[in-house]
Amino acid sequence: MTTDDRAAAVVEPPRPAPDKLTEPLWQGLAQHKLLIQRCNACGHYIHWPKPVCRFCLGMDLAPAEVSGRATLYSYTVVNQAFHPYYVDKVPYLLATVELAEQPKLMFFTRLTDCSEESIEIGMEMEVVYEDAAPGLTLPLFRPVGAAARSKP
Ligand SMILES: [Zn+2]
Repeated sequence: MTTDDRAAAVVEPPRPAPDKLTEPLWQGLAQHKLLIQRCNACGHYIHWPKPVCRFCLGMDLAPAEVSGRATLYSYTVVNQAFHPYYVDKVPYLLATVELAEQPKLMFFTRLTDCSEESIEIGMEMEVVYEDAAPGLTLPLFRPVGAAARSKP
């Protein structure tokens, strides 16, 4: 196999289709920032972005940078790849983490730099920005203090 053959075999990750509400999240990720929608009237964070604040019904909502710190709320092990991009990544951990800024501010993510045996519910997590492909940065989480895994 030549270098050209290997390059041709790279599978592109599935891409999001941002809309007006979710575009700030993806633009922030491209700059390695986690931007979560926040209500300017009552201060609550809202995720996934909505047109109206569910706490006060305000419509003055804007992205706000958060710390990227969270606790592990729930997780599952994915053993089957549902997209070719993930074939060489299974098994991997999908998780819901609770962002530190607000109770029940949940964020759905994939975990990295850890194994199922090394994690437990409630543990401290931090965001990691994975530049998955040109123009696509994914927000993953890992246990605080976990050593970054070297890229293959
Ligand atoms: Zn509000």
